[in-house]
This record gives sequence, C-alpha cells and structure tokens, in this order.
Amino acid sequence: MNSKAYLERENLFPAFQDQFGRIKRKLRISVTDRCNFKCVYCMPEHPEWMKKHDLLSFEELYSFCEFMVKHGVEQIRITGGEPLMRQGVVHFIKQLQALRAYGLQRISMTSNGHYLKQYTQALKQAGLDDLNISLDSLNPTQFEALTQKSLEPVLDGIYAAKEAGLNIKINTVLIKGLNEDQIIPLVKWAHAQQFEPRFIEFMPLDGEQNWSADAVVTEQEILDVLKTEYSVQVLQGHGAAPARSYMVNGMPIGIISTISNSFCGTCDRLRLNAQGEFFNCLFSTQGIPLKALIQAQMNSANSQNSVLKEFLSPYIWHKEQGFHAIQEKQNSTLNSKPNKRKISMYMIGG
Ligand code: SAM
Ligand code: SF4
Repeated sequence: MNSKAYLERENLFPAFQDQFGRIKRKLRISVTDRCNFKCVYCMPEHPEWMKKHDLLSFEELYSFCEFMVKHGVEQIRITGGEPLMRQGVVHFIKQLQALRAYGLQRISMTSNGHYLKQYTQALKQAGLDDLNISLDSLNPTQFEALTQKSLEPVLDGIYAAKEAGLNIKINTVLIKGLNEDQIIPLVKWAHAQQFEPRFIEFMPLDGEQNWSADAVVTEQEILDVLKTEYSVQVLQGHGAAPARSYMVNGMPIGIISTISNSFCGTCDRLRLNAQGEFFNCLFSTQGIPLKALIQAQMNSANSQNSVLKEFLSPYIWHKEQGFHAIQEKQNSTLNSKPNKRKISMYMIGG
C-alpha cells in the first residue's frame, strides 16, 4: 500500500485506539480451542471444548479480519488451541493474502509444532510470514512431563519448517522446578539453528488455576543464568513488541516478562477467540460476543457506518492500562465479589 492510499485509508477508517493512546495494529485470532497437548501451564485436566457449531467459520473470520485490517490492523497472528488442528487453516492463510492490499503486513502463526512437518511446504506456499513454535525442553522426558506428548515430532516439524524457509522463533515458558535448567541448552541449540529463542514468564492463565508468583522464572533470573555463560546486552527500543530483546554473544534472544516487567504500556494487540468473543486484553475480565455482529456486518452493504465499529470502539477505548492494573482491581473487589473469570490460554489464544 503506497503512502497516499495509506492516508486515505486512515481518513476513511481511522485505526482503533484506547484511552491511553495505544493504537491497535495487531490482531490475534484463535481458530480453535482444541489441542492435542496438555501443557501444565495451559490446559486443564478436563477441558470443556467449545462446540463445533459455535465456532466462527473461516468466512466469518475472514470478514472480521478484513474489517480490522481496514481499521488499521497490520499484523494477524493465528493461534489456538493448536491452530494446525483446525482443518482449512492453510487455505485461510492463503485467503488473508488479499488483505495486503488494504495494509496487512504480516501473517503469523503460533503452533506447538506436533503436526508441523506435514504442513511446512503448504504454510510457506500460503504466504505465512512468521512461525512461533513452542518448545519448553530439549530433554524428551521433561518435555513429556510438561506437555503429555513426545518431543520427536516437534523437533522434526521444526527442522522441516527451517528447510522450507519459514521464519522461526522458539517460545519457551519457564516454570520453577520444572524446566528452568533449559535456559542455556535452549539458547545454545536455537542459536546453532539460527532461531531466536524467547522465554515467556509463566502467567496466571493456566487451566487448573495453580499459578503462583513463586513458580515464575523472572526476566532477571533468566538474565542471571545467561550471564554465567554469555555476555548479555539489552537492545533498546522494543516498540510495541511484547518481548524485550537482548544480544547474547551477538545473537538475539527475547524475554516476555508480563509478570515482573510488563510491556503493557505499549500494547497494540487485540484478540478474538474461536467462537467470536473479542478481548481488548489477554487479562480482560470481560470479552464481548461478536459472532452475531460479524454475521450482520457480512450482510450489510454499508461497511463504513457499521454496527460492529460502534460496538467495538468503546470497548477498545476502555482497555485497561495493563496486567497489573487489572490485578489490582480484581484484588480490591475479591472480598466482596469473588472473581468468576476462569479463562486460560488455550481458550483465548496466546
Ligand atoms: N498451541 C499453540 C502453542 O502452544 O504454541 C498455540 C496456542 S498457545 C496458547 C500460545 C502460547 O501461549 C504458547 O507459546 C504457550 O507456551 C503460551 N502459554 C500458554 N499458557 C501460558 C501461560 N500460563 N503463561 C505463559 N504462556 C503461556
Ligand atoms: Fe496446547 Fe498450546 Fe496450550 Fe500447550 S500451550 S496445551 S500446545 S494450546
């Protein structure tokens, strides 16, 4: 999109922004809540899956993505559950290419990698720009204890994706007493493979609600471990990226420190779950159901004055300042009104 077209688009359909002036450029869409893994930090023992007939169709998802791109979204990340478990997802990525004409710049996916091997060529051909693969341990026994699945297919998928020329990042959630010993091995392995490793602080979004601050391996603790082997420099200016970037012996790593050092202040992300509930924040206590509105929007000839826009703008505007502000609010009302929200990563899409 050239700069004249960009300005025309911004005039006609101004980008969404919140009360803290954060303009929304990124959309994460979950295409399914189902997953073949049972990561201890995410999936409950007995998940209650969304009903298939409640899921948004790819047609509805595309229509919503088109609407959001026309309102300033530049990056779409497809997630889940496990996105490669939803049939048709590769075709959907192909369809999204048409939105580049309206300003979409990047199409990304986050996957557990289990089914990746069979999809790598198709994902590349469909035009996927970035692929984040979750890998919490290089030790097969530890990996299985964390995910209830085996490591081998994930490594096979990662090597196949590298072979296909996909742009890969490796995501690792660290939990005290479980896999904190993987920091150095994962950095060594990822850098040998030319991947950027990213460590994620454990967030209170686990299905069993067992999270405790004591289980979090903090950004500082990760850095302390890295410094025992490497020279570590912080890279300035992460912009709206969720990870703080460091150079470790000249190679990049990222740390997503939502708990100890959050980036909420520059957050430009919005989220849609698989049944069309929209969240202005990963930690929102309240999402809004959009399925019926998306369907109405698809049937409406006048997209400029859309009901969807009128519905979304105030909700996005009232996005909270961030994780800590939401926690404080919840704590202050906990005694009088227990927090009923039970939302975990697999439901909202991480
Ligand atoms: N199934 C795919 C995967 O695991 O990559 C995509 C969905 S998963 C919910 C997206 C990301 O959220 C993964 O990188 C996962 O490690 C992360 N995640 C899940 N639960 C988390 C938690 N409680 N705290 C921090 N990250 C979490
Ligand atoms: Fe599945 Fe991803 Fe959650 Fe693990 S983190 S259980 S792979 S959705």
